[in-house]
Amino acid sequence: MKDVIVIGAGIAGLICAQQLKQAGLDVTIVEKSAGLGGRMATRRLQGTWVDHGAQLISVKSDNFGRFIRKLEEKQIVKEWTRHVYQLSATGLLPPNADDRHTRYCCPLGMTAIAKYLANDLPIITNTRIVTVNHNDIKWQLITDRQEILETKAIVSTIPAPQFLPLFEEVLASAPSFLQALQSVKFAPSVTIMAGYNPSNSIPNEWQAIRCLDDPILDWISYDSSKHPDKALQPVFVLQSTAEFAKQSMEESDLEIAGKPLLNQVGRLLAKWLASPEWWQVHRWRYAIAQDSLGVSCLSTSIPLSLVCAGDWCAGKNIEAAYNSGLAAAESAIELLK
Ligand SMILES: Cc1cc2nc3c(=O)[nH]c(=O)nc-3n(C[C@H](O)[C@H](O)[C@H](O)COP(=O)(O)OP(=O)(O)OC[C@H]3O[C@@H](n4cnc5c(N)ncnc54)[C@H](O)[C@@H]3O)c2cc1C
Repeated sequence: MKDVIVIGAGIAGLICAQQLKQAGLDVTIVEKSAGLGGRMATRRLQGTWVDHGAQLISVKSDNFGRFIRKLEEKQIVKEWTRHVYQLSATGLLPPNADDRHTRYCCPLGMTAIAKYLANDLPIITNTRIVTVNHNDIKWQLITDRQEILETKAIVSTIPAPQFLPLFEEVLASAPSFLQALQSVKFAPSVTIMAGYNPSNSIPNEWQAIRCLDDPILDWISYDSSKHPDKALQPVFVLQSTAEFAKQSMEESDLEIAGKPLLNQVGRLLAKWLASPEWWQVHRWRYAIAQDSLGVSCLSTSIPLSLVCAGDWCAGKNIEAAYNSGLAAAESAIELLK
């Protein structure tokens, strides 16, 4: 039997597992996907890297700042931009004076951070937890391959709406814990990754753009500017508004689901952006936490030791997930004493 099983190999799960391992506990991560990083996601496409989840890293807390500086020293992270332009109905506006802080990126894609954190951690990938049971002394996690994993404690780092169907029954005796999780809402997002002919000229202002009040587009970035020395052609990433994503989430044809984003960027910035040489669509059902709980993590010992962590506990970004993962490790250690 394990001391702790961490569900999810996003940044919260990885940093948590690292702390637990350093504390001498027997820990394993179980991840449903083949790759690591969760919503810090990078796709290998046309000989390059494209971030189709988190686009950039901002730093507010000292804790996270120290982590990012360490990654910078190891050349996993570098400064990307201080200027996120704003696109309004009247055109592009420069960032507000109080919004000119450093945004970091990973030249080899966001998943480089996950790969770095995963070093030496026991991780079972391609394995989804589908059922959770327990007896008086241990949890039993059943995987989609019908394997049974036994553990004294669980740290779950999956978005709250995905956690609930797995744990609702076993947490019937902890109603206030369940209620907190039920209050967390997530917004969906549709992402387009698109490659263009290198002959097109790209103004500096297009590196990172937040769209204001657009019904379809929320974000436009010149993704290949994160690794200009390795880029064979310009690659852009477009992200939709939650409202647009809600409508296109059930569309069975991915091209139909994504094409309005290309048409819109063509209307807003330049006609050629509507006609890439290649493009791919990714849909995120649980992209961004809307209402976070304002706590670093949630823990209970009823019926057995369980900690919930992730961005949605204390925010909606990578920094919040990182800090929540650290707090979850502390809570799990405390519960196991
Ligand atoms: C489109 C998009 C753009 C974003 N842009 C930014 C940005 O620019 N800057 C920023 O800071 N943040 C951004 N974010 C948010 C950021 O990506 C997240 O806050 C952060 O990555 C969350 O990390 P996490 O570890 O909490 O969760 P996740 O990364 O979601 O990790 C949870 C993991 O659990 C796994 N999992 C789920 N269910 C199961 C199961 N049953 N069994 C096993 N494994 C399971 C998942 O596969 C996943 O790997 C963006 C997110 C999206 C989707």
